[in-house]
Amino acid sequence: MSHQFSVYEMARQQLAVAAEYLDLDEGLHQVLASPMRQLIVHFPVVLDNGEVQVFEGYRVQHNSARGPTKGGIRYHPDVDLDDTNALAMWMTWKCAVANIPYGGAKGGVRVDTKQLSKRELEKLTRRYITEINSMVGERSDIPAPDIGTNAQVMAWVMDTLSMQQGHTVPGVVTGKPLELGGSEGRVEATGRGVIVAAHEACKGLNIDFTKNKVVVQGFGNVGAVAAKLAEESGATVVGVSDALGGIYNPKGLPIRELVDRFAGREGGIRDFRDAEQVSNSELLELPCDLLIPAAISAQITESNADKIKAKLIVEGANGPCTPAADHILDGKGVLVVPDILANAGGVVVSYFEWVQDLQNFFWEEDEVNQKLTKIMRQSYASVENVMRAHKTDMRTAALIIGVKRVADATIRRGIFP
Ligand code: NAD
Repeated sequence: MSHQFSVYEMARQQLAVAAEYLDLDEGLHQVLASPMRQLIVHFPVVLDNGEVQVFEGYRVQHNSARGPTKGGIRYHPDVDLDDTNALAMWMTWKCAVANIPYGGAKGGVRVDTKQLSKRELEKLTRRYITEINSMVGERSDIPAPDIGTNAQVMAWVMDTLSMQQGHTVPGVVTGKPLELGGSEGRVEATGRGVIVAAHEACKGLNIDFTKNKVVVQGFGNVGAVAAKLAEESGATVVGVSDALGGIYNPKGLPIRELVDRFAGREGGIRDFRDAEQVSNSELLELPCDLLIPAAISAQITESNADKIKAKLIVEGANGPCTPAADHILDGKGVLVVPDILANAGGVVVSYFEWVQDLQNFFWEEDEVNQKLTKIMRQSYASVENVMRAHKTDMRTAALIIGVKRVADATIRRGIFP
């Protein structure tokens, strides 16, 4: 995304901190700091009015030491190579922290989907996936949804790659609709994992979850589900937002109604009556106990970190807190449950979807949710243990686990040839 600083540099700084804790060999550190494969594509789409528009897209595979690479496809006007590199690296650590057998990848197209018709979106998707076809495969690199993409887009990805192979290949992409080999529980998985992580954090802090006042930034797949499940768990959601702004009611917002009216629709939530309108920056600084950033990266920085009132931040988005913000928040005693732990629920259930597709044997939703909750709790407990043992913050602890698992796999495999 177009920030004043490099998000990839931020990811590399985080790696450097973990490398120091692990006393990582310099050569190995270099291997882990570099994306293994990057592809930039420019491709044309014929728009509905007959004009041709050229789009820029990316696919980056960061590391495959632990298995095929896995990572979402993002459609957003600010997508660039720097961002895609960072997101691919975070996917590597996330899969390792959750201990699922994947490496990390990410892809995206610089596009404002609000400007496209459904037919144009389909053509863009089919052409983009054809351009990156050489990297993607059910045993090599498996995409999934991210900002601006959804189950329908994943269905077009699956169909395009299947047409090119001459037979249906459901395992080539996850986050698909149920009727095309999608998994029960996948749509809610990231938000559900965020709320499991929040429950675990509250236990550690001795906070009664139902007493929490919660603020959620972003009301898409992750944010809307997290808000809904927080409310269902008895907490009071007092603030929510989308890209155009947010709303606040200290007595609580009617999340079920907001989900029905606004979830998944770009902009609009600030038009809801019976609540005070707030900007996205005001939203982050509202009085609350639990803050869930679930939109885009670099939202909590050195310029607003000291104004955050929440005692607990659970990162639904990837990279919402910058390293400078982490430092300030740590100093204030705010517990930040980092993205590579907190939002791993999506990739965990994507892994379940892939396993089900490869076996052509599908599980019930309860089974998916139980297995997800178990992995989230186990991952949380192992990160908490390392945090205590090293007397460090939770992000560093999660990175220590993730980076060590990838480094160990690399050493075991050896450097080819
Ligand atoms: P989405 O497209 O479904 O929703 C994004 C939401 O953020 C929308 O409500 C949008 O209006 C809002 N938004 C966009 N720009 C904003 C801005 N500048 N300020 C405030 N709000 C803004 O996307 P999603 O899938 O919910 O992803 C949200 C975040 O969670 C991303 O950082 C993504 O990488 C991360 N994530 C998603 C998944 C997943 O399974 N979908 C998994 C892990 C992490």
